[in-house]
Amino acid sequence: VRPLPPKATHQQTKTYNQQLVLKAIFDHGQISRAEVARMTELTRVTVSEIVADLLKKGLVAEVGRGPSAGGKSPILLSVVEDAYHLIGVDLANDEFRGAVVNLRGDLVHSLSLPLLNQGEAALEQVYELVDALIARTAQPLLGIGIGTPGLLDTDRGIIRQAVNLGWKDLPLGSLLQARFHLPVYLANDSQVTALAEQIFGAGKGELNLVVVKVGRGIGAGIVLNGQLHQGDGFGAGEIGHIAIDPAGEPCRCGNNGCVETVASTRAIARRARALAGAHPESLLNRLAPDPAMLTIEEVLQAYAAGDSLARQVALEAGRALGFAIATLVSVLNAHRILLVGSVTRFGQPWLEAVCAEVRRCSLAVLAQETEIDFGDLGANAVILGASALLLTRELGLSLMR
Ligand SMILES: [Zn+2]
Repeated sequence: VRPLPPKATHQQTKTYNQQLVLKAIFDHGQISRAEVARMTELTRVTVSEIVADLLKKGLVAEVGRGPSAGGKSPILLSVVEDAYHLIGVDLANDEFRGAVVNLRGDLVHSLSLPLLNQGEAALEQVYELVDALIARTAQPLLGIGIGTPGLLDTDRGIIRQAVNLGWKDLPLGSLLQARFHLPVYLANDSQVTALAEQIFGAGKGELNLVVVKVGRGIGAGIVLNGQLHQGDGFGAGEIGHIAIDPAGEPCRCGNNGCVETVASTRAIARRARALAGAHPESLLNRLAPDPAMLTIEEVLQAYAAGDSLARQVALEAGRALGFAIATLVSVLNAHRILLVGSVTRFGQPWLEAVCAEVRRCSLAVLAQETEIDFGDLGANAVILGASALLLTRELGLSLMR
């Protein structure tokens, strides 16, 4: 529940109290009105009024009686998990994925559509996916949560730039709102992944957490004091575009030598293509009919087979990422950093290269106290994080399990 501003209006106070009550019931599974009043420090009258309203909305149900503390045994309340469903969408992959999600964060139905297009046509595919998901549930819908690549304005629901999808200044939030008549929340895929890992995954319960997503693009999601930190322009965590080599490869952002040009899947494949010819002994030359056609998949395959060139390329990429993470360690001093995304398939040796570079590029004490590890939510992280964003903003629920 977001803190109340100092001069709250009557309506703000009412909403705030309602969120406190709902969160108390949500967090405790089953709880009596008296216990809710004790936990929230609201009066019993206020709690009873709010509960009556939640019962009417169907968000809460009376589910039996608890042990008596002397007098009458109290009626227990519980959140109705399927009272509302929501739509969680992940636009950050080679396919658009989405799910119908319940109030506990369970994926009730999942769907995916291969991403065939860019620009206006990709937008049509988003509509198609959401249409198909809405058709899968008969429950009232709370809203739509979206994790998307690129730089966006979360408050206004605008995608300022998503290069992969060919979107620029796209008001995706209002377009979806107008079409589906539902609240829509969107955030960058790395940012919602951080939220998901903090609520459901390897960073569960951490107050401060950094999750770095390393795939086609590279970005970090930052949770500070339990809240997603997006920065003044929502761009906090764009570490993929820290330039580390002014004479380096051109980046899709327009600059040269960004971390992304060295540490992303595309960069790794490009580097393997560039070096394979000069290393005829490398397995890379036998995995593709032409070294110019090598993809990240062949590099991973050669790496798994112990090919030294593939290993060299992967570890170089790990070190470049480690440099960027060292800056995060120095600025934020978060004790836990999780790595997610397709490049993490290079596993432990790659992780060790990342960690060694973090140690080399930051204060020894800070680096020692920092635990860098893999996240553990896999393919559903963005959907779960987008759903969590919606639940937090719409109901004040933290989804803490
Ligand atoms: Zn860049």
